[in-house]
This record gives sequence, structure tokens and C-alpha cells, in this order.
Amino acid sequence: MSRTMTTQDEKRLPVVSNRHVDPHSYPEGVAFLDGQYLPMSQAKISVLDWGFLHSDATYDTVHVWNGRFFRLGLHLDRFFGGLEKLRMTIPFDRESVTEILHNCVALSGHRAAYVEMLCTRGASPTFSRDPRQALNRFMAFAVPFGSVANAEQLQRGLRVAISDKVRIPPASIDPAIKNYHWLDLVRGLYDAYDRGAETALILDFNGNVAEGPGFNVFCVKDGKLSTPAIGVLPGITRRTVFDLCAQEGLAATAADVSVAALREADEVFITSTAGGIMPVTEIDGVRIASGKVGPITSRLMALYWGKHDDPAWSSQVNYP
Ligand code: PLP
Repeated sequence: MSRTMTTQDEKRLPVVSNRHVDPHSYPEGVAFLDGQYLPMSQAKISVLDWGFLHSDATYDTVHVWNGRFFRLGLHLDRFFGGLEKLRMTIPFDRESVTEILHNCVALSGHRAAYVEMLCTRGASPTFSRDPRQALNRFMAFAVPFGSVANAEQLQRGLRVAISDKVRIPPASIDPAIKNYHWLDLVRGLYDAYDRGAETALILDFNGNVAEGPGFNVFCVKDGKLSTPAIGVLPGITRRTVFDLCAQEGLAATAADVSVAALREADEVFITSTAGGIMPVTEIDGVRIASGKVGPITSRLMALYWGKHDDPAWSSQVNYP
């Protein structure tokens, strides 16, 4: 029979001197968890959740810029696609998730926000190891907008290192299911820091360039754009670059991108919801072309941010 712990019980417990101190200063924001809206500092999950124990989870991140969601529909498509592939179910349909995301942003008051929706496998009430018995958990939150590249890096271009770490192959994990399998990416990041770079690109299983921690990559050669085709998350910003290229009459393809092709490119940039289109001007300590942010990158960056006010590409947050 279970009962609540009494002060007597507490006295019998060993004294724990070095209790873990939560190192986080939580960003200002609002989360939705178990049917409630909470400040970020109170949004916590069980250590028994398989999302935490097994990385058994999927998520999506969309941003809000000037009080408007950017391409929310595409992020919802990817999120619900991931749920289906992982056989997870949530008690909310597309409209309800949209409403929850709007509420998180509106309650946070942020006009520029990083908004995440996620679902973990949860845990089984009987501690069964059978994932079919787990109660899946949906959560969402809105925190201030963050970028892979800071203002200075956006101006001068990022310094990137190419790590020899290999991205988890698509035969193991379908990269279209946005996931938290990041150990390859994190190890790549440490390689980059060890070599004095600011971020990393890692390889696919054929030794071509794949992607980096939270971003896709493009190179430009003789006015034509290419981005890795396989073993990468089909990023919404990557897709947006294709849409902008189609609009501008620029040639863009998804194909193998060798390490040599990247080093010899005229321009390189990375793409992510966390920062948009971000220039890269140095790889492994060597400048790309002139070492300046290239004209096609600059043009696409301007077009990308311009679309954030366009109702065909963005939708107004329902602030109170
Ligand atoms: N690749 C990985 C591994 C990512 O985690 C992300 C975003 O988080 C991206 C690429 C970029 O995708 P998106 O443009 O949809 O943000």
C-alpha cells in the first residue's frame, strides 16, 4: 500500500550533502504540459520517460518572427508524419496543436520566439518494456528566438570544421523523423571546438558532407546551388531555399556534396529554423573563395526574412 512520506520517514533518509543543483537559468517562456500552461522552469518530465531514457521521441521547431509563425503548416506536416512513423498517438489534432502553440507564444508575450512541439514515448504504467504499453506525452513550449550564428557571425560568416564523424545512417533512423539522436553531431562539435572552429559539419556513410548540429548545408558553384540529398533532415529552411530559388530562377539540386566540392565552392551557407540562412566563410581554417559572404547567400538571406511578413508564408500569432 502506498502512503505519502512523513517527516519521520524523511528523518530516516540518509543526509544527501551534494544534491544536484539545477544549473539552468530558465529562459522566459511558457510550456504546455499535461494539459496546463506553465512557466519554463516548472515544465519537467519523469526520469522514467523513454523520451529521456531511450531518445524515443520526435519533435519539431518552428519560429515566430515579428509576431508571426513562419511556415507553421510545413512544421506540423513533419511533426505529424514523425508521430505516425513512430506509432505515437497524441490526444490533439492539427487544429488543437496549432491552438496550443499560439497560446504558448501569446502567453509568453514573445514577438520573436523559438517554438517547439514534441512527443515522447512516455512510460508504461506497469514498467513493461513493451513500447505499445507506454502512454505517449505531448508537450510544447515557446522561448525567445535563438540562432545558430550570432550577429557577428552572420556578418562575417561562420568558421566551420568538417569532422570525420558519420551521421546516423537513414537505414537506421529515418532522418525525416526529426529526432534527438545527436551524439554524432555533438562529437562533431567537440572536434570543431578542438580545431578552433565555431561549429561542425559531419559526413554521411559514403564520406560526403551530410549536415551539422541543427542545420543543413548548401554550396554555390558557378551560380548553381546544391545540398546533400541523403541522410539528412529534410529541413523546412532547406525547403524554403529551394522555393526561393524556384522563384528567383536559380538552379538548386539535392545531390551528393563531396568534402572537396564544399572546400572549392564559391559560397557556402547553412540553414535552420534557428537562424534562417547563415553564411559560412571558412572551412578548416581555409577561406571559402574570397572569404566574404557571397552575393547569392546575401540575396537569399534578404528574401528569406522578407517572406516573414508575407501572409502566403507566415501567420499572425493570436496575441490577446
Ligand atoms: N538538421 C538537423 C539535424 C536539425 O536538427 C535541424 C533543425 O533542428 C535542421 C537540419 C534544420 O531544419 P529546419 O530548417 O527545419 O530547422
